[in-house]
Amino acid sequence: MQTTVHTTVRFSGIGLHTGRPVNMSICPAPSDHGIVFERADIRLGNARIPALFDFAEHSPLCTKIVNEAGVSVSTIEHVMAALAGCGVHNALVRIDGPEAPVLDGSAVAFVRSILAVGVKQMRAPIRVIEVLGTIEVHTAQGWARLGPGEGLTMDFHIDFADRAIGKQSKSLNLSNGTFVRELSDSRTFCRASDVDAMRAVGKALGGTMENAVVVDGDAVLSPGGLRHHDEAVRHKMLDALGDLALAGAPMLAHYEGHKAGHTLTNMLLRELFATPDGYRIRECDAVLAARLPGAGVSAHEIPAVA
Ligand SMILES: [Zn+2]
Repeated sequence: MQTTVHTTVRFSGIGLHTGRPVNMSICPAPSDHGIVFERADIRLGNARIPALFDFAEHSPLCTKIVNEAGVSVSTIEHVMAALAGCGVHNALVRIDGPEAPVLDGSAVAFVRSILAVGVKQMRAPIRVIEVLGTIEVHTAQGWARLGPGEGLTMDFHIDFADRAIGKQSKSLNLSNGTFVRELSDSRTFCRASDVDAMRAVGKALGGTMENAVVVDGDAVLSPGGLRHHDEAVRHKMLDALGDLALAGAPMLAHYEGHKAGHTLTNMLLRELFATPDGYRIRECDAVLAARLPGAGVSAHEIPAVA
């Protein structure tokens, strides 16, 4: 059955790119509502933006959704990953600024709060998107592929010149609480050499050594070092789960990302939904539901982080 959060959960923090303080609440919503953001600071006109792939605007450093009135919310991928990873299908996310709070740069605080209030079962069945064929998209940076899968499985590969990251590969089946256990605490990362360039164009203004892993060559500059030796590829998988959640429903699919990011995952969804025989919508039975990322999630498995 579909779910929502039992009660409203609240977060305060700053936006990674804007550096602006922001309050965000994840509120219960009815069945078939999906995940919708609402700008609480905008009084005139339509302030709601559905978290769907066709509302995403090209934005290489984060996932940004924009409605027809030009109202936007950016850096939604970590809270979207937390909702998908905890199996929350319906929520109204109210936010009083243009960017979600970065918190510690991972999704663990969102997961902790969602699981603390609990996930409520509703009366409507879950509908899943079953990928039937293989779709592949490329950019100059890398590629991403979506193919059939029994649940949601993911292979990710990255390759950075900085030896503190280097080449990393990981494969995961995202059922049985895998997201919470393996991915939720992995933080966003960047190269020290990119920080000045991002700031020059008004990005990463809220980035700190605490809410991002900053690397320079062999060195991890952030105090305390890494949470996992392969924290970078784990974070890329966290981002991919959050970006795939813009499909609007859980997916039965195998995702492969090779140096992929927000742009490629969004291109995949656009291509998938432009291919009518590439997918079908199925109502979920108990057997199918047990294979989805929200199945088997336990608050006891949230990683302990500082
Ligand atoms: Zn991210």
